[in-house]
Amino acid sequence: MSDVIIIGGGVIGMLTARELHQAGADVLVIERGPLGGESSWAGGGIISPLQPWRYSDAVNHLAEISKAVYPSLAQQLQEESNIDCELTTSGLLFTDLDERMQAEDWAQEWAVELHTIKDDKLIHEIEPQLNRAIRGGLWMPKIMQIRNPKLVKALKGSFDTLGISYSEHTPVTELIIDGGAIKGVSTARETLTAERVIIASGAWSAGFIRQERNVEIEPVKGQMIMFSGEPGLIRRMVLSSGHYIIPRRDGRVLAGSTLERTGFDKAVTADANRELRLAAAAIIPALANMEIERQWAGLRPGTERGIPYICPHPEIDGLFINAGHYRNGVVLGPASARLMAEMITGQAVTLDPASYALEAAH
Ligand SMILES: Cc1cc2nc3c(=O)[nH]c(=O)nc-3n(C[C@H](O)[C@H](O)[C@H](O)COP(=O)(O)OP(=O)(O)OC[C@H]3O[C@@H](n4cnc5c(N)ncnc54)[C@H](O)[C@@H]3O)c2cc1C
Repeated sequence: MSDVIIIGGGVIGMLTARELHQAGADVLVIERGPLGGESSWAGGGIISPLQPWRYSDAVNHLAEISKAVYPSLAQQLQEESNIDCELTTSGLLFTDLDERMQAEDWAQEWAVELHTIKDDKLIHEIEPQLNRAIRGGLWMPKIMQIRNPKLVKALKGSFDTLGISYSEHTPVTELIIDGGAIKGVSTARETLTAERVIIASGAWSAGFIRQERNVEIEPVKGQMIMFSGEPGLIRRMVLSSGHYIIPRRDGRVLAGSTLERTGFDKAVTADANRELRLAAAAIIPALANMEIERQWAGLRPGTERGIPYICPHPEIDGLFINAGHYRNGVVLGPASARLMAEMITGQAVTLDPASYALEAAH
């Protein structure tokens, strides 16, 4: 018997397991596939919501806590796993001035460094490869990125070092509920008992929550392409007209992403390849000549306003939810994990949990 079973070993389940382990709990993560093999692997790893001023305080609170945590988290994970997650402060440039006032107000309120750039020369000094037709934008020099596949690998390595239990390739088939309280979960092979169970199954979470009213977490497919480039050629993350590019340390460049509500289908398409290739070349013309090494898709756990559910289940004792992080699971993950662990261990909570409840207007 474990103190806590977590259903789903994406970044949310794994970060939550690590927090609970550090608080002294005996945790078991049960994952249908390999740990971190779904959305958490597929994402871009930008450690900020895109256009954070469009989001509610509930999202910004989680994001700002996580942003402060990432440098020490990446360091600890490197020590525990020997894997460098490539946390890099490459900054984020938005090539649009339409939302300037809103962005400036937001930056002041949240004490985030943001510069409005109207100087043609300066914006090309920030990113020399930027399309010459782009003449201004909003520049956030402190925004970091992390290489998601390395983050999930490092988390798995930290489980091995810290002795956190996990079971891969083990789908949970059912929750065991008795007298209004959770007793454990069933898999195809066995029944596992625990007094607390957390649903952290990303886009697949709604099925486990089983509420009378509709729980709004649905898969939103995101396709991405990756160019093989030269290290140092492109230096900054750039967001332009809804598309972004993310340069990695080894010269590879990611271009994303699509937003598609097509159920649980993860197929990649030629249309998306073309859309992303054209959008990337419009931002950085040099990308037009670079080879596309790979294309993939992931299923984001979508909610309309992007506010995750981090809460106890209102009807089933001992059942908890940490899901629905939509486009921001990597940036919101550490703070969401901390809040969930605080709720479960009965510690004082760092954030007002009301906005993350199942009953809150998501
Ligand atoms: C293209 C793309 C770009 C993105 N870019 C960013 C970004 O730049 N920054 C950012 O912060 N976020 C980004 N995201 C979003 C981020 O990746 C997600 O919000 C985050 O990964 C969600 O984590 P999760 O652990 O909830 O979900 P997942 O990683 O999907 O994990 C859920 C896990 O639950 C498992 N599971 C499901 N059902 C069962 C079951 N029955 N039994 C056992 N296990 C089960 C699944 O196999 C899966 O591994 C992006 C996403 C995509 C797709």
